[in-house]
Amino acid sequence: MEKDIFCKIIDGEIPCHKVYEDDDVLAFLDISQVTKGHTLVISKKHYDNFLTIPQEEMHRVMDVAQRIGQVEVKLLGARGVNILTNCYPAAGQTVMHFHVHVIPRYNSEEGFILEMKNNAEGLNLPALAKEIKKEL
Ligand code: AMP
Repeated sequence: MEKDIFCKIIDGEIPCHKVYEDDDVLAFLDISQVTKGHTLVISKKHYDNFLTIPQEEMHRVMDVAQRIGQVEVKLLGARGVNILTNCYPAAGQTVMHFHVHVIPRYNSEEGFILEMKNNAEGLNLPALAKEIKKEL
């Protein structure tokens, strides 16, 4: 199977601007820099995404994402941070290797726009909640 681009970065076949590394986790600047400091935190072992990585390894990645978000606020002067992980192409995932975006936010006129519309009209929320709850 062809290696994904993040596996190639982990194996040193493609360069990156590294900000953190330990035995399980690697973090580096996203090449697109949606905002200044936009960082990706990835698991060194290959998993497709957040939905398929084992919990313990996911926690290690999220711990690093939290620390990077804290540093971006303290050091870069970000006024907020978006922590984002896309799962599957339908949700915008383009690289099929688990990664968390840490996106510092400075003002409202930057490259990252997150819009959540209210589409609750016509939905039976009690029934929906019950359906999800019974599977958990
Ligand atoms: P997603 O769309 O959530 O799968 O995000 C994939 C991200 O990987 C995008 O934001 C890309 O800009 C980023 N990306 C792709 N190739 C590289 C690379 N070689 N180095 C750093 N970031 C990359």
